[in-house]
Amino acid sequence: MATMSERDDFKRTIVYGENAVGHLRKNEIPAYPRNYELWYTYAAGFNHALNKSINDIIRQRGKITSLEVGRIYDQFIAPTRIGERIDEVGGRLSEEIKGVAGMLATQMESTSSYSSSLGEARTALAGAKDTGAVETIVQGLIDVTHQTERTNRELENQLTESRRQIAELQESLEAIRYESLVDDLTTLANRKHFEQSLDRLQAEADQSGASFCLLFTDIDHFKKFNDTFGHQTGDQVLRLVALALKQNIKGQDIACRFGGEEFAVLLPRTDLAQAVVVAEHIREAVFSKELVKRSTGENLGRITISIGVAQWKRGDNAQSIVERADVCLYAAKRGGRNMVLSEKDDGVFTGHKVA
Ligand code: GH3
Ligand code: MG
Ligand code: MG
Repeated sequence: MATMSERDDFKRTIVYGENAVGHLRKNEIPAYPRNYELWYTYAAGFNHALNKSINDIIRQRGKITSLEVGRIYDQFIAPTRIGERIDEVGGRLSEEIKGVAGMLATQMESTSSYSSSLGEARTALAGAKDTGAVETIVQGLIDVTHQTERTNRELENQLTESRRQIAELQESLEAIRYESLVDDLTTLANRKHFEQSLDRLQAEADQSGASFCLLFTDIDHFKKFNDTFGHQTGDQVLRLVALALKQNIKGQDIACRFGGEEFAVLLPRTDLAQAVVVAEHIREAVFSKELVKRSTGENLGRITISIGVAQWKRGDNAQSIVERADVCLYAAKRGGRNMVLSEKDDGVFTGHKVA
């Protein structure tokens, strides 16, 4: 069964996709994945700087070339693509490793040449006839030692610099890993993080029987809100709901943006009754806020959310628990919205009567 957000996503993204193909056709640009991605981003309209760049060119010349499309991709999309950033960090890391390997080779050469100098000096000393000859040999040894010291110092400096660079690259990788699991708009865990966490909790529960709960939440009449006040104000509301989630969970709980205007919360070691209490707190926190547009002072009224609550049970898989929470959410919507319903509530699974 497709979840509500999957149904929303389907309708919305098909329109973006068709739009993107239309732009490719009109500008006679090959529909390579990169080009398609750029026009899809354009059609979705979330990246304002990208849209402005494209609009400026089209306004001036009526059309945009493949070359310009490539440039805009590099400027606005490539830097945010985790795969490309990993490639870049990986490339720099392998350069550093090559550098370190080169330094080690130089170091080994220098040590071996120093030890052969010592060997030669020993032989020469054995055959030295007078103090003059000994002095020359000793002077030679002092020179070679100074030279080796200089080489070692240089290598030490280069190694220190390499160590610094590698530590910096490690930090970049850590940042990329973090970003790959975080939703940009709300800074909640993203869908991928949600799926990983759900799999982990599922495995733990299968092993130990430690139950967990899932809250599934969706903003009520959000389409109307967006249509009335605009998408950007809508995005602010998504941040506000995210904040209400964050402020009403604790410890090991994981709040995620499941997609669009749907959120999911995983509550480890929590039973259904406790989970319903958390859900009620979140619902009340959102409802209690009167929304005022900061730029104009305009009163936007209140926003409400509906929440479905399901508890893990033996035999569940990731899909089955999400589906049950989604059914509860649907029942809460049918029941009048601004409501929390759990799978224990009468009528949730029959659809006849809603508590
Ligand atoms: P319901 O109470 O039944 O949930 O009604 P609804 O209008 O919230 O539900 P529907 O699924 O019809 O609409 C979801 C809307 O959410 C569509 C879109 O306008 C909005 N939306 C989805 N993702 C985003 C987003 O990232 N930003 C903004 N601003 N709006 C979004
Ligand atoms: Mg929805
Ligand atoms: Mg909604």
